[in-house]
Amino acid sequence: MVFTEPLTWKCHICDEERPDAKISVLTKPLVVNGTVCGQQNIRYCNDKAECIEGARHKDFFGGEKGNV
Ligand SMILES: [Zn+2]
Repeated sequence: MVFTEPLTWKCHICDEERPDAKISVLTKPLVVNGTVCGQQNIRYCNDKAECIEGARHKDFFGGEKGNV
């Protein structure tokens, strides 16, 4: 069986559906109350500067954002 439909992913930063080749995954430790509980995978467009930058600062649960 051949998949003819292209594989797409939704960017977590800009919320756009992008082809697989344009999406990268950033794996970050998942920190809750200062304790590492696992990891989170943040998908972002690897061809958009704002998404690459946004992925670096995004945190699903931590809420702590690094200031540049
Ligand atoms: Zn994006």
